[in-house]
Amino acid sequence: MDAVVKSEKGEGHVELRDVPEKSPPAGAALVRVGAAGICGSDLMILHDRFPGYKVPVVMGHEFAGEVAALGDGVRSVSVGDRVACETHAYVCGRCAYCRSGAYNLCQERLGYGYGVDGAFTKHVVVREAIMHRLPDSVGMRDAALLEPLSVVVNALTANARLSPGESVLVIGPGPIGVLSALLAKLAGCAVTVVGTERSRRRLELAASMGADAVLTVDEAAGPGFESAFDSVVIATGEPDAFEAALKHCRPRGQVVHVGESTKRASFTFSLIERKNIMVQGSFSHTWPAWERAISLLRDGKVDVSRLITHRFPLRSWEEGFARAESREGMKVLFEP
Ligand SMILES: [Zn+2]
Ligand SMILES: [Zn+2]
Repeated sequence: MDAVVKSEKGEGHVELRDVPEKSPPAGAALVRVGAAGICGSDLMILHDRFPGYKVPVVMGHEFAGEVAALGDGVRSVSVGDRVACETHAYVCGRCAYCRSGAYNLCQERLGYGYGVDGAFTKHVVVREAIMHRLPDSVGMRDAALLEPLSVVVNALTANARLSPGESVLVIGPGPIGVLSALLAKLAGCAVTVVGTERSRRRLELAASMGADAVLTVDEAAGPGFESAFDSVVIATGEPDAFEAALKHCRPRGQVVHVGESTKRASFTFSLIERKNIMVQGSFSHTWPAWERAISLLRDGKVDVSRLITHRFPLRSWEEGFARAESREGMKVLFEP
């Protein structure tokens, strides 16, 4: 079967390859990929900026599909079920985090697309514990966005908490940023989204989807911009965002960091102390965030379809990656 594979370490080394078909081991299912989204971390792997990826590896971790075959002992799904799948391809099951339900923080965790063969192909092996059955009303393409939506649900409703009437600044108008803005609106907050000049079109989309205000980084740095947000969400990997977040946060406010980055930040750290700021990181997601994200799509509370700006077959993977990198659109899907 065709697969988009990172074949060697270093810049580039991504290619369409024929890889062997798989069969599901006990406790797992084979999922036929219906749609799979390109994530910023896939671009980091392309450019050799993602820590600890193995090679060769089939890329892709944001996906939904249909159960095609079952390994022994699988009882919660049947062949033909439509499912969305968490990214936690392997966790140890024995550590304190696994045992307390925070298995996203398992130090032995391996995710799809960098540690275990992922979703930019026809079939993926998925263990039973990380499959979520999809309601009929949730389409396959929208379901491919459940992963980033679950990241945001986990960040803003479990690790941090937004309250009605609060003001929220989202730094970074990519998919995670716009989904954060939608969720904050849903929570009854007033939302401002800030992004670079290069991301103009993404800012416009955020505004058209309900953000109360959008502005560029330069505008946010200029005089007259009020910097006293109750919460600031960092949804970018740009290190400058951290100092900006601390500046724009009010005293006793919270800064929530969801943007993935391997870069080093330099910032005035007395801001955290002087302003009594609560800094909360949030990595990935667990079962409850997924179930809530699915409910949000099922009930029409969040419309992710407008974030899907491009769709490609696998053989056009290069164009897909180029579109994702250009920031012209928002979410690029492969439909293998
Ligand atoms: Zn992702
Ligand atoms: Zn563990």
